[in-house]
Amino acid sequence: MAKRMREFIRIDPELCSGCQRCHTVCPVDAIEGEPGEPQKICGDACVMCGQCVQICSAYDAFFEKDADWRVQKLRERNMPDGTNEPLFAAHYRGNFLAVKEILMHKNKFTMVQCAPAIRVALAEEFGMPLGSLVPGKMAAALRRLGFDRIYDTNFAADLTIMEEGSELIKRLTEGGTLPMFTSCCPAWVKFIEDKYPELVGHLSSCKSPQQMAGAIFKTYGAGLDGVAGENIYSVAIMPCTCKSFEAGRQEMKASGYQDVDAVLTTRELGYLIKEAGIDFAGLPEEEFDKPLGIYSGAGNIFGVTGGVMEAAIRSAYEMVSGKPLDSINVTSVRGEIGVRRTIIDAGEFQLKTVVVSGLKNVLSLLETVKQGNAEFDFMEVMTCPSGCISGGGQPKMLLPLDVPDAYHNRRNSLYRHDEELTYRQSHENPEIKTVYEQFLGEPLGHQSHKLLHTSYKASS
Ligand code: SF4
Ligand code: SF4
Repeated sequence: MAKRMREFIRIDPELCSGCQRCHTVCPVDAIEGEPGEPQKICGDACVMCGQCVQICSAYDAFFEKDADWRVQKLRERNMPDGTNEPLFAAHYRGNFLAVKEILMHKNKFTMVQCAPAIRVALAEEFGMPLGSLVPGKMAAALRRLGFDRIYDTNFAADLTIMEEGSELIKRLTEGGTLPMFTSCCPAWVKFIEDKYPELVGHLSSCKSPQQMAGAIFKTYGAGLDGVAGENIYSVAIMPCTCKSFEAGRQEMKASGYQDVDAVLTTRELGYLIKEAGIDFAGLPEEEFDKPLGIYSGAGNIFGVTGGVMEAAIRSAYEMVSGKPLDSINVTSVRGEIGVRRTIIDAGEFQLKTVVVSGLKNVLSLLETVKQGNAEFDFMEVMTCPSGCISGGGQPKMLLPLDVPDAYHNRRNSLYRHDEELTYRQSHENPEIKTVYEQFLGEPLGHQSHKLLHTSYKASS
């Protein structure tokens, strides 16, 4: 069983007003307390999604407190001393200081990856319009911060499709636990492990793209740069407050080293860029480093609800039917409704899919799976309401009225980026082909199994 390394999400009793807005968004009812009193998080129930961090509106009137009080609070939260943003009661305690230290001392070879949802939200930290698409400026900023290799989680999202699509086809054709559930959202995985242990076998054995990238960095990537895996410090920039928990899972080190050494949220990357005095808006557009920074549009849409399913269909349909899709845009799996069902006719067989956003929406479906009545083969679940674009580590909207616009614009920017990319299917990505030819062998092969898959276990 994965142990929680530390409490990533906290509510500061000194600042909490007891308004209970967090109760309305917590997908697992993990917040307890009386109205008007400071609330508490039940650590056993919490899946660390950070939705309470996003909605919390109780903050310090810091200009009335003394400076020492504020600096102490900032340090408790691992935030930079100089930040002038309000300190909200519900907050995330991340890894900003650890990563800053590594970049300062340069005693490790640093490799960084960025989740798809970062490139459509980071600019908001610098006053740019909601949902601005900035992959090139983000790569440029990471280079100026001193990272040695600027790689991309999107590459590993393409790898995930190769492995997860093959796993699904294997389960469908050779027999295996069905329906299969996606496993790229660590809050969802934790929820199944804790609350539905009898259904753990339904989870895909694939690691998430974050963890696949980390495993590849310290093996294949290490070889490309002639650096020992032990000398690589692997940083993941994520929209997610649960990804630190995932990175800390004890079993995530098949290469012999922990796949990912530190996770920063989008907000924490913003702190690093601001502290370094980088003019983000004025940065030029730069490329990610090759080969592990090359990605397809399919990998890019992992950041939005329905994206993993669409990416999987774009490749699995062709693998099964041997024919190209009528339209590369599988619009039937897109949308904002909490549960979306689709049937894909792939010639030899029909694939019945379900896409779910928000854990509360999955409960009735899980009951049908438990009773053996599920009428679907493959289910994507994302804990956050619009998928990772609305994750707990994304820029926080100070005006609640901005939230729908932010999610709408971020989603549209991800789809626009998909449409402008050269490759739109994971199996078309030339660097994915190369990594299989030169290193992994084949999807579900021995090396892939060792590095890219894991075994999720019921919590005891
Ligand atoms: S982090 Fe998510 S699961 Fe945990 S208390 Fe907050 S809203 Fe609930
Ligand atoms: S939906 Fe994305 S951001 Fe939200 S908990 Fe899951 S992985 Fe994290």
